[in-house]
Amino acid sequence: MKSMEQNNDNQAEDGDHYSYNFHHLRLEGERSRLPIAKHRDAILYSLERYNTLILVAPTGSGKTTQLPQYLDAAGWAAEGRRIAITQPRRLAASTVASRVANEMGVDLGREVGYSVRFDDVTSPVTRIQFLTDGLLVRELYRDPLLSRYSVIIVDEAHERSLATDLLLAVLKKVQQKRLDLRIIIASATADVETFRKFFSAPISSPAAHRPRFDQRPEDLTRQSVTALHLGGRLFPVDVEYLTTPTPDYLAKTLSTVLAIHREELPGDILVFLTGRDEVEKVVSQLYTFSESQRSASRLVALPLYAGLGTDDLDPIFNFAAEPGSPRRVIVATNIAETSLTIPNITYVVDCGFVKLKTYHPHNGWERLGVTPISQASANQRAGRAGRVRPGKVFRLYTEASFSAMAPHTVPEMQRSDLAPTLLLLKALGIHNLAKFEFLSPPPSQLMLKALEFLYALQVIDLKGQLTVPLGTHLAELPTHPSLGKMIFESVKFKCTQEILTVAAMISIKSVFFRPSSDQLSAYEDSIRKFGVEEGDLLTYINVFNAYQASPKTAKWCKRRFLNFQELQRAESTRRQLKAYFHSHIGSAAVSCGRDTQSLRKCILTAYFHQVASFNDFDGSLQQLRGKETLYIHPDSVLFRRSPKMLLYTEVLHTTKPFARHLVTIEPEWLTEIVPDYYQLRTARPSSSAMPMIG
Ligand code: ADP
Ligand code: MG
Repeated sequence: MKSMEQNNDNQAEDGDHYSYNFHHLRLEGERSRLPIAKHRDAILYSLERYNTLILVAPTGSGKTTQLPQYLDAAGWAAEGRRIAITQPRRLAASTVASRVANEMGVDLGREVGYSVRFDDVTSPVTRIQFLTDGLLVRELYRDPLLSRYSVIIVDEAHERSLATDLLLAVLKKVQQKRLDLRIIIASATADVETFRKFFSAPISSPAAHRPRFDQRPEDLTRQSVTALHLGGRLFPVDVEYLTTPTPDYLAKTLSTVLAIHREELPGDILVFLTGRDEVEKVVSQLYTFSESQRSASRLVALPLYAGLGTDDLDPIFNFAAEPGSPRRVIVATNIAETSLTIPNITYVVDCGFVKLKTYHPHNGWERLGVTPISQASANQRAGRAGRVRPGKVFRLYTEASFSAMAPHTVPEMQRSDLAPTLLLLKALGIHNLAKFEFLSPPPSQLMLKALEFLYALQVIDLKGQLTVPLGTHLAELPTHPSLGKMIFESVKFKCTQEILTVAAMISIKSVFFRPSSDQLSAYEDSIRKFGVEEGDLLTYINVFNAYQASPKTAKWCKRRFLNFQELQRAESTRRQLKAYFHSHIGSAAVSCGRDTQSLRKCILTAYFHQVASFNDFDGSLQQLRGKETLYIHPDSVLFRRSPKMLLYTEVLHTTKPFARHLVTIEPEWLTEIVPDYYQLRTARPSSSAMPMIG
């Protein structure tokens, strides 16, 4: 008798099952044609022999979707263990999980699930779990050996995000204690030496920290690393450069897309721009163009950036090309560079820039600036064109500019505010940070600045140990230590209700949206209604409370120039923070009512390092500790006012550095709240003291 599996023909004759099986078979066929399929046995074999496998294959090969399925089929998820696969971005974790669930014919959240911060779609039967790399690092608190997982796939490792680098560094330590743990480092670029060196370096921890269980010699020799390079790009991609540089890449993007549409064969276009505003602008220009065309030559423009809902994403990912369907133009931020696979792309338009965050330790500012991409990025972007057939990339820069680009992007770990990272490491029991092995060690200036800040925040003591209870609490809170500090101190200042709102509101992008110039006076009127002279953060409380008391509709928000989606996000963030407060800090979340003084003092305990005084003479701001001059952001309620002294939670660089999210403070509060930081004590026992790195 034939088994059910073998007898596909019979099932195909059964009308009820036909379409399901057809779909499944089509996916099966696609799966077996993916470049990674040929290497399945080699991958599984390597995993038997080595602890760590570095897997290099171009985007679209099947790393993310196929690897976990191969491992599952080979029994790596037996006995309740899970296969983890990490992603640098939340959006990728959920999208890819749903694709894999689909391929396996299971419901998302059961055998295949995902978890991201504040959202867990897994169950006890989950065998393949997608999650963000940051979340997996936090899991170490609960389970220092990550014993739930048999294999951990660190995906998109080439991006070198801060969380990925941190995860790899701690995984190396976990693996030293768990020889059975397998790590796969999946990368889309061939630069494997950093990973290989890191994982093959001798164990540097002292003998006392070695695993205590019996290690047989053959087990020790298996503490080893290997790399597999899987084939090249699927199809060739032609590269076109500009002959002269363009002064306006947005205009050039539009004309290039239209030229492709006019002159090139069918095939969808993927456009890379730097941010959401640019994406929306080009999408609306393309929409206007499309409206003016006969239906035969229409374009459909679709935006793609982080934060979009499933409804917006569906037409991008769940799409099957049919003859005669309009040409799609997906206008995306860098999010489409590697982790997401968009079907049917043949043309890529690459503006050559990316928005990158860089932290400047000398003034403590994080700067989100548009900078040229690296050659590695340019090649990644180009690669997106050659997945279904030979493709073409239009680089909106000259060949000389390409040659002048850096070969790789600087790892995020080397250009970030390290305070949250160092706090996390301390909480994981890694006290000797000077000896901690980073994948690429951050500059010492960044380390010192972060330690100095954590000390001033009273999160670590002079010996570099976490303080109790503040430090230990903050380490568990998945937000920046400043937010945590403010929430913690709110008990003392009796303003928890307000602080939770403030914390939620500064976690969102922007609550007001600035309209075009004809509506500007209505906009200013609206802001004025919510505005208070104590500054923006207190104004946000008014906005949030008004929203709470409103019907909570898009219409209500729109009339007041408020961002509906962001307010919904703030509401959910506040709920999470409040739950955290109740479970870790206190039972009663009290309100300070109209006592804005306590509230502002409480905020100062967290943002004392970002205080500036107002210069009446020219309207500028001068950092109190530091040399920088900055300006009040035009969106602030304090714009065109002259507060004596204020604190800011963010600096935004456009034409000049603008301070955002302001709160007025009184100079004498500094003596009361942060005397050491500003050297305001008469006797100064510890003003110049620095915590030890060790
Ligand atoms: P990699 O991780 O190596 O970049 P993926 O596993 O993400 O590759 O994708 C492998 C292939 O699976 C893609 O080339 C594409 O054909 C298909 N694929 C992946 N995700 C989707 C999706 N959401 N919709 C349609 N096809 C997809
Ligand atoms: Mg991938």
